[in-house]
Amino acid sequence: MIDVLIIGAGHAGAQAALMLRKLGYAGAVALAGAEADPPYERPPLSKTYLAGGEPFERMIMRPKEAWAELNIDCLPGRKIVAVDPAAHEARCENGERISYGKMIWAAGGTPRRLPAPGGDLAGIHVIRTRADVDAIRAGLDGAKDIVIIGGGYIGLEAASVLVGMGKRVCVLEAQERLLSRVAGPDLSAFYEREHRGRGVDIRLGAEIEAIVEKGGRPAGVCLAGGEALPADLVIVGIGIAPDVEPLIAAGAEGALGGVKVDEFCRTSLPDIYAAGDCAAHANRYAGGAVIRLESVQNAHDQASAAAASIAGDPKPYDAVPWFWSDQYDLKLQTAGLSTGHDAAVLRGDPDSRSFSVVYLKDGRVIALDCVNATRDYAQGRRLVATGGACDLKTLADPAAPLFKPPARNG
Ligand code: NAP
Repeated sequence: MIDVLIIGAGHAGAQAALMLRKLGYAGAVALAGAEADPPYERPPLSKTYLAGGEPFERMIMRPKEAWAELNIDCLPGRKIVAVDPAAHEARCENGERISYGKMIWAAGGTPRRLPAPGGDLAGIHVIRTRADVDAIRAGLDGAKDIVIIGGGYIGLEAASVLVGMGKRVCVLEAQERLLSRVAGPDLSAFYEREHRGRGVDIRLGAEIEAIVEKGGRPAGVCLAGGEALPADLVIVGIGIAPDVEPLIAAGAEGALGGVKVDEFCRTSLPDIYAAGDCAAHANRYAGGAVIRLESVQNAHDQASAAAASIAGDPKPYDAVPWFWSDQYDLKLQTAGLSTGHDAAVLRGDPDSRSFSVVYLKDGRVIALDCVNATRDYAQGRRLVATGGACDLKTLADPAAPLFKPPARNG
């Protein structure tokens, strides 16, 4: 029997295993992942790995021997398809059964398929795993026209890489602005200008009628209204669906398409925790609303909270959300959650390509989007964490520090 069986060998799963050992947990720990590779960093997939600038070996979190030294049993190629919470048993797709004492479900999600005729054609690419990006790279040589569906992080990071390779790139976004799920309107307008300035054809409010096929492969994209865009390669980045079916089928409470967890990352099933993209939780930085966060930060910090609970040192999950995105020479760093803000202050000049947008609610700073402004980001994160009190004059003056640590007495 495995004392702690971790499902999903992505960022959350790997962190949970490492944290258990860091906290001195001595029981048997196994890390089961659906992919064949050992745990690796995913952020480079849509950035340097797609660009061909980063060998896969550099993305591996730890060499094989390091996992073995920590007595963490890596079980690649194990997709869990059923969980029996009463028997404390998980079943893999290959029929194998694994008994566990406690489980941490960190299976993440699967890229959503395009809900349009032709959306399920083989040869429509997504970006979630190493294999996905290897398949894109294998098709790049002969590809001149690339259509990217979705103007979120995935779509825009891919667009910046591919246009840099000399490809003709068109981004189709359903909403009326880019990055609508993750950034405010000023940021969306700035990124739209940057991409257009480099030749990316951006279509907002785009409605896809069908993917045109030739010989079973995608060859173009038809838009509502009749326009047909040529496409040697199609990449879809329209979000993910959390992978939680086995838990929900076993009776776990779900929320927002994922599985609901409490502040210690416990699901409603006995001895089963969840962390990362698939875990819906009440978040203080969202005003206590139940949300799912799809970010490295959340994967890391929820996994740490789950591991700490299991290791007998429970601490509630309460971390400031943060995100980042690299496009061209622009580093976007976000601290906090801007959803529900009632005011926004521009700090610096977007034309200088180094500025921040500060979001407030009821006079308190709740989030910042910082472009090539790492100092704002670092100070802003502390500001958000400590309650967000700051006067408007300071917020609008890029030379004024956003956060001053409280003076020490004595
Ligand atoms: P995303 O951030 O949810 O953005 C997808 C965008 O595509 C949304 O604006 C969405 O609009 C739009 N869309 C949905 N259906 C569409 C359609 N039929 N046609 C055109 N547009 C459509 O998802 P993503 O960019 O695919 O990212 C997926 C995951 O990777 C997320 O977990 C993300 O956080 C992660 N990721 C993170 C980073 C980073 O942190 N830098 C980088 C890459 C990936 P609606 O809102 O209307 O659905």
